[in-house]
Amino acid sequence: MVNLVLFGPPGAGKGTQSQYLIRDMGLLHLSTGDLLRSEIAAGTKLGLEAKSLMDAGLLVPDEVVIGMIKSKLQSNPNAAGFIFDGFPRTIAQADALDTLLLGLGTSIHCMISMAVPRQELIDRLLLRGQDSGRADDQDRGIIEQRIEEYMLKTAPVADYYRNQGKLQEIDGLGTIQSIYQRIQAAVNA
Ligand code: ADP
Repeated sequence: MVNLVLFGPPGAGKGTQSQYLIRDMGLLHLSTGDLLRSEIAAGTKLGLEAKSLMDAGLLVPDEVVIGMIKSKLQSNPNAAGFIFDGFPRTIAQADALDTLLLGLGTSIHCMISMAVPRQELIDRLLLRGQDSGRADDQDRGIIEQRIEEYMLKTAPVADYYRNQGKLQEIDGLGTIQSIYQRIQAAVNA
């Protein structure tokens, strides 16, 4: 198995770049944001509870996302590997992921962290909000709150992987294709 974490603030381009990695490496894409939005669309209790937090730009509780990831890992035992997108977003989630993967006899191979300046993130998210229909992309205050949550709770997760010698940092500015080339180089390094 090859397991990658695609990491970066909201609007860094994780979802976009995941699509290329899926195409070329045949990995399964696990985006906790997508999984939560499916729960909301299906009108589940979990979705209902998550929605108000997501709309406010706050993280949903660790046990909720860890539970979703656990069930996806267990239901795909023959996957070639996984791309984790938007997860782990806290140190507790990173710890839980290590434990889950250990139980499957595998581990994270590398974290690719995409750096994008704050103003560029805000511009990209507001642009995406014009046609994505995502409420959390349409309000500058909510976008700023998400970036705050990222700085406070998520940015430290990079050090968790740095300490394991697994962190690869790349510049997230440029064309989609040129960023993908940087990611490929980082994965192969
Ligand atoms: P973005 O990266 O653009 O913020 P996501 O789709 O990854 O978008 O996440 C949208 C929202 O879903 C987050 O603001 C948060 O409320 C919730 N969420 C997604 N993944 C996690 C996670 N791993 N832990 C906690 N909350 C999460």
